[in-house]
Amino acid sequence: MRSSNQVFAGLGTTIFAEISALALQHDAINLGQGFPDDEGPEELRRRAADSVMRGPNQYPPMKGMPELRQAVAAHNKRFYGLVVDPDREVLVTSGATEALTDTLFALLEPGDEAIVLEPAYDCYHPIIKAAGATPVPVTMMAPEWRLDVEALSAAFTDKTKLLVVNSPMNPTGYVFSERELKAIARLLETYDAYAVCDEVYEHLIFSGHSHIPLMTLPGMRERCVRVGSAGKTFSLTGWKVGYITAAPALIDVIAKAHQFVTFTTPPAFQMAVAWGLGQEDAYFTGLRQEMEQRRDLLGDGLRDIGFDVVESGGTYFLTTDITSLGFDGDDDAFCRQLITQAGVAAIPISAFYGDSKTAPKNFVRFCFCKQEDVLKSALDRLRHWQEKRQAA
Ligand code: PMP
Ligand code: GLN
Repeated sequence: MRSSNQVFAGLGTTIFAEISALALQHDAINLGQGFPDDEGPEELRRRAADSVMRGPNQYPPMKGMPELRQAVAAHNKRFYGLVVDPDREVLVTSGATEALTDTLFALLEPGDEAIVLEPAYDCYHPIIKAAGATPVPVTMMAPEWRLDVEALSAAFTDKTKLLVVNSPMNPTGYVFSERELKAIARLLETYDAYAVCDEVYEHLIFSGHSHIPLMTLPGMRERCVRVGSAGKTFSLTGWKVGYITAAPALIDVIAKAHQFVTFTTPPAFQMAVAWGLGQEDAYFTGLRQEMEQRRDLLGDGLRDIGFDVVESGGTYFLTTDITSLGFDGDDDAFCRQLITQAGVAAIPISAFYGDSKTAPKNFVRFCFCKQEDVLKSALDRLRHWQEKRQAA
């Protein structure tokens, strides 16, 4: 048999799918994969259902329903003061994953380098490689996960076409500071490079932090592709509605990729998300407050049990350094044992590095976008497991 594409043939299933399957098999509480364990806001679901019954249900416009493109433009203005043309500067996609794929395919060519800050969300590396380009990893500094500006400067070359910036960052929960974003902006200008800004957690941002889109910094409007996701902003991860904001020259070429990746996104979901983006401030503050409470519930509980919890400024996730638990093995072995012995699933951070040899092996990611009683049960299980270990 002829060989298939080596980028994809060489990949396993994602760590999220693997850990979720193990959690199911062992009846473990799943604090691994990042998805809320409720059905999401009722009003959005009702609007999507009404829209399905009323129509349209045939192919919507390739760039997205006008209502959603207008809502994305208005959202940019309302939250960040960005003036965006809904017809020329917005593209609707089937989730942020498609938005990232379209963007990387549209911007990268063989010979290009794309800088990826690690630990990194798992789709960046394979898509960059599938586009024929080379991912260049730069490691964020553990345990706070800050940006190493010197290492980033050293990674830029004349071949650097773009940098992927994910803030708030999955898996670390790190929110980039204005100082870091300014340093990034300087480098992008010096090397005439683009930034792919994965901002899917823009509304999951906690006290003491604020989300600054890189695109709002001077000189960055034309260089940034800003990606959002209704999955995260409305706790509806299965809907897969994403949106891109970028200058017309970038949107035009990204839309060329989009027209052959999915072409369009279900119109009923687009209509519901268009309504959702226009909700009162109370919705957005409520979401962030609720998630912050859950972060605190899980973080405080884990700390009590003996985990070394790193502060999370945003996202669905917090990371813990497991060194203090005295476990004999790496993060992957730890997570597997946690599923079978404690009945709780979490994700090893080393899975978020392109080269596992250079990855730290002492951090684990827990997801807190779950019902409070689920988080409490998980903490009970972990406490019990730790007490047994200490007694042994
Ligand atoms: N980027 C990051 C950092 C994510 O955590 C996710 C969530 N899976 C995505 C992109 C993909 O979002 P979507 O489900 O909208 O494709
Ligand atoms: N973004 C989710 C996470 O980090 C996973 C999405 C997926 O399974 N692809 O947990």
